[in-house]
Amino acid sequence: MVKHFIHQNNWNKGTLETTLPRDIVDEVLTIKFEEDRRDKPLWKLDSSGKFSCSSAFQDLRQKRPTLTQLEPVWNKTVPFKISFLMWRLHKKKLPLGNSLNKFGFTSNMDCVCCRSPVQESYNHLFAVGEMARRIWKWVSRPVGIESDNNNIVQILDNWWKTKSNNSVHKLILTISPNMVCWILWKARCSKKFSSKIFYKIWIYNQFVFQTKIVIAKKFGKMQDQWGWTNICSIAMMDYKLKLTSKMVKWNIHGDDLILNTDGSYMISLGRAGVGGIVRRRNGNMVIAFAKPIHFSTNNFSKACAAFLRISWCCH
Ligand SMILES: [Zn+2]
Repeated sequence: MVKHFIHQNNWNKGTLETTLPRDIVDEVLTIKFEEDRRDKPLWKLDSSGKFSCSSAFQDLRQKRPTLTQLEPVWNKTVPFKISFLMWRLHKKKLPLGNSLNKFGFTSNMDCVCCRSPVQESYNHLFAVGEMARRIWKWVSRPVGIESDNNNIVQILDNWWKTKSNNSVHKLILTISPNMVCWILWKARCSKKFSSKIFYKIWIYNQFVFQTKIVIAKKFGKMQDQWGWTNICSIAMMDYKLKLTSKMVKWNIHGDDLILNTDGSYMISLGRAGVGGIVRRRNGNMVIAFAKPIHFSTNNFSKACAAFLRISWCCH
């Protein structure tokens, strides 16, 4: 307890030095305290001062270096389920026919995307199978990327190493291969486990739809009628988000009240307060207030200040 290190209203330097390392003692001695306040633990690893499992985990975990070749996979605009699939693909952790064979599974390990039976493998499903070849050819052509490749790792590399003209083009080069692999995987699983066939047109529409959603998150909505070729040519030129604005006006009446409030908190002291003033339009003060509130966050304090006075004005 902190009280064990206090003597005659000041830090007990001797006790501190026998308990703590020298540099921490110096830091403790700079802290001012008030005798009548209760001890309160503050968790330094979180800005709120409160303990959280995630901050403790982040501090304890052993971080490995980031694999640069997987950066496009973990792009924040890509939905997590797609990033996770790509990570499994990269690590060869998908339950494909050739992998399951190694574990002794022998029945029905052929690819479901082709008319003639071929054993399912990473390169087959994602690069050279009938469905894969068709979709890569269609997706690659408008971007000017070579699609005739037998290796999925090289296909992904081709996309991710192509130089972009601008940020929208860069996003397209980053997300498209992720989307293609996701759609191939989805089509494969649906056909294998529910015998549902995805037609070419569905696959293309899904790809365009999903890609537009991701682009919209960063650069605004693209027009509904744009197809893949339109999207690519527009992106390679220089796509600019069209901003629209709307004027919002406050109608002033004769005897309105003007309310100004603010609130703040100090994490080091664990204190928060709010204050404000209510005036008539001519500037005459109606009421001014200031009061301490429950210690939380800055936004909470500001909202609390506004709420307090609006409730007062309503009454
Ligand atoms: Zn196949």
